[in-house]
Amino acid sequence: MKLAIMGGTFNPIHIGHLVCAEEAVSEYGFDEILFMPAGWPPHKEVQGGVTSEYRYQMTALAVEDNPRFRVSRYELDRPAPSYTVDTVRHFVSMSPDAQIYFITGSDAILEILDWKDPKELLEMATLIAASRPGYPLDRFAEQMELIRQGRVLVLEIPAIGVSSTMIRERVAKNRSVRYLVPEAVRGFIEEKGLYRSP
Ligand code: ATP
Ligand code: MG
Repeated sequence: MKLAIMGGTFNPIHIGHLVCAEEAVSEYGFDEILFMPAGWPPHKEVQGGVTSEYRYQMTALAVEDNPRFRVSRYELDRPAPSYTVDTVRHFVSMSPDAQIYFITGSDAILEILDWKDPKELLEMATLIAASRPGYPLDRFAEQMELIRQGRVLVLEIPAIGVSSTMIRERVAKNRSVRYLVPEAVRGFIEEKGLYRSP
């Protein structure tokens, strides 16, 4: 069993996240990609009309037609924001025979290692850094060193210059987000009136 976790805020999930996960499946043959929406601190439970529950529901809608994609409530249901290392430890103990990977974009790779117990995280999981326009991996020597050591694998994916920030801004300005997010997610944003005010 080869399992990859893809963490994120997913506020909202967009095609950049999905292409990244699909490319990881086709390159590394994962049995499952677990999308892991991050918890928010309790006082931030609602941001601009968006709850954690909505982020979860949009992620679930986005992955429902892909048998290898699943969404997890693990971090959302915890009282405080989780450290990646704690989440990975949980899934390692749940599936001791699985090989566990953690996928991030090239903008976020050092963020997860900067936090807590980077050494333990690297021992439990292989990190995958997916290329993202505007964030070359060679801008930090630290990243290049991890790649050289084989602790971070680089995944070149088709460049998708889309971010959740861009989606929120476009909705606020009444610009279309069709084709930038899955159609079901677009419908959900519209139905719930999310992101209308910046
Ligand atoms: P925001 O603008 O709110 O930060 P985002 O688009 O960066 O949103 P996140 O939820 O922060 O989305 O990202 C989750 C993960 O997906 C991160 O590891 C991020 O690097 C990666 N990712 C997001 N968009 C892309 C993209 N277009 N190409 C490659 N990786 C991406
Ligand atoms: Mg981001």
